[in-house]
Amino acid sequence: MSVRMRHTVAHTRNRRSHHGLNAASLLKCKKCNEPVLPLTLCMNCGTYKGREIIDTLKKLTKLERKKKEKEKELSARGEGKEKASGKSLDAAELSKK
Ligand SMILES: [Zn+2]
Repeated sequence: MSVRMRHTVAHTRNRRSHHGLNAASLLKCKKCNEPVLPLTLCMNCGTYKGREIIDTLKKLTKLERKKKEKEKELSARGEGKEKASGKSLDAAELSKK
């Protein structure tokens, strides 16, 4: 093995000072307020820039679909309590899958 240039603890630490990771910057979906990555469609409601790109209900079973449609209606109708309850249901559903 060739002899490398001398390196010190300070050199190592200086190099590693750039190795830190930043938290991903998340935006909120305009339709359902779920956190989404920028420039990607929302996997919760399947919309991007206000347009529906994919049908998120297609893959679900009949029962799940009914649940989700109800949630959509609730979130479309009003905000506040109903929206919060819908969100918690979404999280539970996602964890099941
Ligand atoms: Zn969404």
